[in-house]
Amino acid sequence: MRCPVCERAELVEKVQNYHYRECGLGNVVLTGITVRSCPECGALVPKIPRMEALHDCIAHALVKKEERLTPEEIVFLRKSLGWSGADFADNLHCDKSQVSKWENGRVPMSKQNELLFREIVARGKKIDDYKRTDAARKEAGKVVSLFVSMDDSKRQWTDEWREAA
Ligand SMILES: [Zn+2]
Repeated sequence: MRCPVCERAELVEKVQNYHYRECGLGNVVLTGITVRSCPECGALVPKIPRMEALHDCIAHALVKKEERLTPEEIVFLRKSLGWSGADFADNLHCDKSQVSKWENGRVPMSKQNELLFREIVARGKKIDDYKRTDAARKEAGKVVSLFVSMDDSKRQWTDEWREAA
């Protein structure tokens, strides 16, 4: 396959970790992904299987996280529900301007609203325990990333928070 960006070279295929910035979150790493890269311009074209299940997996991990949701995570979860900003405001019985303040980080969501929002996202998905902790996240101040891997049977995505290498 020729590079879709520069069209000067054939893409080279390699299995590697892929920093999945396209999802709008800065710290999601997909492990063992087939990535085609351009030797000329460096463009990366990942082959991501079961995209919908992947986004469910990420949403599930966010809903379970101990820390408050970041503005980017609020946007990701809102989109995972297929909601516009107006839908978000309707469902949480608040003003549309309130939603944009949460999403651009000007005003934090109240804890009550955040809990409600997490419940809405979690509905229909099995949530073991919001307070579940992973060893990496117990250590205050450590920067952790969400590593998302396709399991060996290639049927399911699994998530794990751990320190970036
Ligand atoms: Zn290129």
